[in-house]
Amino acid sequence: MGDKLLQHKHCRNCGKAVNIDDPYCNDRCKDEHHAMLKRKRNQLYMLMALAMGLMLVTLLLGGGG
Ligand SMILES: [Zn+2]
Repeated sequence: MGDKLLQHKHCRNCGKAVNIDDPYCNDRCKDEHHAMLKRKRNQLYMLMALAMGLMLVTLLLGGGG
């Protein structure tokens, strides 16, 4: 049985099988994935800022009584 199970990974952006040394199948996928990570990180920061703002408001309202 000659299984051709060469070592490979999947492109982090599109999921295509790529060489074990390459995280992405091409430069465009790399750029796209980086842009996506950036967006996700920004979303996380916004969520954190929102949560902190809510906490602050809660503290201020709760401490005023
Ligand atoms: Zn790709």
